[in-house]
Amino acid sequence: MTAMRERYLKEIGIPVWRLRAPSTELSTVVTEPSAGAVGAGAPRPIESSPSEVLPGAEPWAELMAAVRGCTRCALHKSRTQTVFGVGRRDAQLFVIGEAPGADEDRQGEPFVGRAGQLLNAMLRAIGLPRSEVFIANILKCRPPGNRDPQPEEAASCTPYLSQQIALVQPRVLLAVGRISAQWLLQTDTPIGRLRGRVQTYGERNTPLVVTYHPAYLLRSPLEKAKAWTDLCLVKELLSRSP
Ligand code: URA
Repeated sequence: MTAMRERYLKEIGIPVWRLRAPSTELSTVVTEPSAGAVGAGAPRPIESSPSEVLPGAEPWAELMAAVRGCTRCALHKSRTQTVFGVGRRDAQLFVIGEAPGADEDRQGEPFVGRAGQLLNAMLRAIGLPRSEVFIANILKCRPPGNRDPQPEEAASCTPYLSQQIALVQPRVLLAVGRISAQWLLQTDTPIGRLRGRVQTYGERNTPLVVTYHPAYLLRSPLEKAKAWTDLCLVKELLSRSP
């Protein structure tokens, strides 16, 4: 077992069983259940081409101001604040979640709750601390009661995400969870069939890896082993020469 794998398993709480046989390194990770992800109809996102990136000397500042004042959908009425995204503006990895939850709505930052702690641990395990990546969501505002994003909401909000991706120009995108993956890839295919291989996104055909949402992994820890293989794929893509 490599040090990286061992670190991951420890970070995310997968018990590692070792046989005590001499000179044998047999480690076993938990078995995988057949838990599937549910599919959902996904409408077309509004694509934003790089030329639509807001002009100006400081496109980030303009984009942030646009998000802060956004009233494109009804979610602006119930939000405490928008959740723009966080991280390095030159990140090699761009993580895309679904939507802010209660903690994120309160703090104005994505993935700060329990799921966020697990996401941080997953990233750390492949040598990418949270501070090294960029993290954002499909939606910048919290859907009331943490319900799934509605297609119109995702369509209204996607141009912001597209502009963030165009500005960061990451080498790899990581979609966490079914909602994010199905929306970005415009498919109803279950997440179990989207993960485990390299997809592409957008005009630049940026490599996109799909994995399970950390909130799902908290409920279904046996799936963490699969998430590990997805993260290894991310790591492998990043290690290729640009
Ligand atoms: N879940 C998400 O998808 N995004 C967040 O920011 C928090 C929880």
